[in-house]
Amino acid sequence: MLRLLRYFRPYKRLLLLAVVSNLLMSLFLVVSIPVLQPFLQILFDLPGKAAAPPALQAATGFRALEQAVSGYFADLVRTQGRERALLWVCGLLVFTFLGKNLFRYLSLYFLAPVRNGVVRDLRNRLVVKILELPLSYFSEARKGDLMSRASADVQEVDSSIIGVVESVAREPIIILGSLAFMLYVSPTLLGFALLLMLFSGLVIGRIGLALRRQSREAQGNLGMVSAVLEETLGGLRIIKGFNAQRWQQARYERENARYAALLTRIGRRRDLASPLSEFLGIVAVAVILWFGARQVFSGEMTAPTFITFLYAFYNIIEPAKRLSAASYSIRKGLGALERVEALLAEPVSIRDQEDAQPVQAFREGIEFQRVSFRYPNAETDALRDISLAIPKGKVVALVGASGAGKSTLADLLPRFYDVTEGRILLDGVDIRRLRIRDLRALMGIVSQEAILFNDTVRNNIAFGLEGVSDADIEAAARAAHAHEFITALPHGYDTNIGERGTKLSGGQRQRLTIARALLRNPPILILDEATSALDSESEKVVQAALNRLLQNRTALVIAHRLSTVQHADEIIVLDQGRIVQRGKHESLLQQGGIYQNLVALQAL
Ligand code: ADP
Repeated sequence: MLRLLRYFRPYKRLLLLAVVSNLLMSLFLVVSIPVLQPFLQILFDLPGKAAAPPALQAATGFRALEQAVSGYFADLVRTQGRERALLWVCGLLVFTFLGKNLFRYLSLYFLAPVRNGVVRDLRNRLVVKILELPLSYFSEARKGDLMSRASADVQEVDSSIIGVVESVAREPIIILGSLAFMLYVSPTLLGFALLLMLFSGLVIGRIGLALRRQSREAQGNLGMVSAVLEETLGGLRIIKGFNAQRWQQARYERENARYAALLTRIGRRRDLASPLSEFLGIVAVAVILWFGARQVFSGEMTAPTFITFLYAFYNIIEPAKRLSAASYSIRKGLGALERVEALLAEPVSIRDQEDAQPVQAFREGIEFQRVSFRYPNAETDALRDISLAIPKGKVVALVGASGAGKSTLADLLPRFYDVTEGRILLDGVDIRRLRIRDLRALMGIVSQEAILFNDTVRNNIAFGLEGVSDADIEAAARAAHAHEFITALPHGYDTNIGERGTKLSGGQRQRLTIARALLRNPPILILDEATSALDSESEKVVQAALNRLLQNRTALVIAHRLSTVQHADEIIVLDQGRIVQRGKHESLLQQGGIYQNLVALQAL
């Protein structure tokens, strides 16, 4: 509960206003109870004083108020006649309900920005966290889980916990007020009512307990359903290409059916709650009617008092229901909040050391010293005992079959992952001792898939850089051989890449990412060449852009193109995480072995 309060701290003032409004609202409701009594007295033409049961003459504040009210009305009836008095009572009723509902609205009015603010803050913190967490955190399974936490769980926190704020501030007062009145009217009757409520509360509570467990299960199940859907969307090309629609469809339907079945079970149980509680409620009312009416018959209580008692009882039922629903909600919401908080508390394993060194420039070179790396949860090392040097200004190419460890090796350099053994030095300093921001600022990354964002061409090139001039962007685009096709787009540099109709070819997308790297002009380049086949024309243009990018740069290239491999200063041949061959193109060719095979495959 206390953890929850933290989230409301920025909204203290609004919250206070809402609570005060709620208090006033409850006050009006409680006051409406004794007002009903004089109305009934007038209706049944009974004298005012008779309403007070003689057994309880101790003057409580509440009672004094009630007596004052009924005494006042008795006077009113005497002096102004029944009709006039009736008008007054009705007017008073209208007034109290006007007050009640006015403050009810006001409290909601103040709460609206609070609840939306709390949820907004939570979402923002989630994204900050996602951006901060190391790449190793995001396996495919976790991405689905993350999506569900960011949407469903945050929604859950929203709908459950915030509603509770209303209830917690309001219902207890209404309940206490009504209880006080009932206690004053007839303690026995109240005792009865409470016993009955307790009983029905227990029955309903049991249903709620099972519901809670099942809805947790459902949340997990929904995650699975969306994970399969996401996979389907991401893999549409492959699914269709392999004629695997039926297969994928079956997978989805299986998960979906399980989810639906669970929801049905939950739904049935939940639907049971309302009829059952209505029935239990009417049983309670019947018992109270029976008991109370007997008291009226025997003259222990007047009919108006009894009816007012029933009204007070009725006033308790709804708030009590809401309060118990609120406690259920709190637990459900806390569950969701816990899942969100677990993510927020996830340790950021890759972060700056306390005394991280700033880096201004890149002077000598990069060196991998006996580096080994194993993915978390993996059984074997993805890289084993890798030693290599990339002197400044040289290009080192990584080649090897898929799964050999090329991307893993490249990911270690910007510290997307940290080495398990050994170390990586930049100008002789372990990269773990450098400021991550500075380290990454030295590097430009061009990935295999051209990652573009739903934004303008200009922003996709400037990506992450602030205050870049249009001239610089254009120069980078020209150097990447992208200027021409960009100007041919409907809105030139302002064309939104995400918009329909602006479909870029694979080669064009690549040239945009190359322009992005050129604009940054980083001393070190990590290049994962695209394997996707381009037509020879765009291949040539892309290659020209790449050559431009590689000029005067230190580069680690995951090489798929023969041209890049041939011009590399050193070629590292990886196989199952180990370096098996290294050297220049010609000498490696003469050695034969894996390299020769790879080149032979490429030349096809
Ligand atoms: P390449 O780039 O040469 O195709 P990778 O570096 O992607 O090879 O993969 C090297 C090895 O590490 C492979 O055996 C692959 O299955 C494994 N691997 C890659 N990424 C992960 C990951 N996130 N978690 C666990 N294992 C991984």
